[in-house]
Amino acid sequence: MCDDAGAHEPYNLTTPAAVRRYREIHAAAAIRRRAGGEYLTDEERAGLEAAAVVDLDDLIEDPIPLIPVAQLYRRDVPDFVGPDGTDLLQVLWCPVDHADRDYNPRVFLFWRDSAAIGPVLEAPPEPSVISKLYLPVPCVVHPEQVREYQYADLLPDDLCERLDEWDDDEDDDRPNYQEDLSLAPGWKVGGFANWSLTDPYPMNCAVCGTTQKLIFTAGSVDSYGSWRPIEDAPDASPDTVKVQIGRGYSLYTFYCPASFDHPPATAMQ
Ligand SMILES: [Zn+2]
Ligand SMILES: [Zn+2]
Repeated sequence: MCDDAGAHEPYNLTTPAAVRRYREIHAAAAIRRRAGGEYLTDEERAGLEAAAVVDLDDLIEDPIPLIPVAQLYRRDVPDFVGPDGTDLLQVLWCPVDHADRDYNPRVFLFWRDSAAIGPVLEAPPEPSVISKLYLPVPCVVHPEQVREYQYADLLPDDLCERLDEWDDDEDDDRPNYQEDLSLAPGWKVGGFANWSLTDPYPMNCAVCGTTQKLIFTAGSVDSYGSWRPIEDAPDASPDTVKVQIGRGYSLYTFYCPASFDHPPATAMQ
């Protein structure tokens, strides 16, 4: 649970059931439109409008159950980092805007020894209120390792200058370091952050001051796009998770390399 009620902000509030219903209605409507029918029926439109006017603001004053965001095993993730004796990283977030987190969800990291986990709940506790942007569609992940390179402005000056000279903005056919060659867009573990929204700022541990490292990225599809597995149909939407960070940015979560007990921090870019 997140009991940090004072930080919760009443934006885009809805319920998990309403988000699932919204997705069902729009999925059915998309199929109907492809078959030449109308997009939304009057009944569906009325249902969506009714769900949108429910006032849920008071509910953010109560502790909010966290939403499961990712569950990653050491055996599946080549660059897995975590305390000795753990083989499972669970990423959860408090699914409403936090004033103390730049109006993003507050991220929690839990490392576990999966062999030591006893009986589990049949279903995770469901929050009574969430932001409509922060409920992931459950997916199975098939991790694929990609080499990344540091954001250009964080490279040594001479290297950054050589890249500037090498990049050719006039020639669209030639790949560009920042957009094409260094950083993978979308959801990922490890790698580097793309600081193009604000330029880089220091991510230092609140407890010990150590420079934090990127561990997990939640992406949005709309602005920078996302990579789509080559096995998928070319016209398949890459937006399988249906989370949106800000106006289509990414939420980068950093951990402290000095101690896994120190709190993570996030940056939206
Ligand atoms: Zn919270
Ligand atoms: Zn620290």
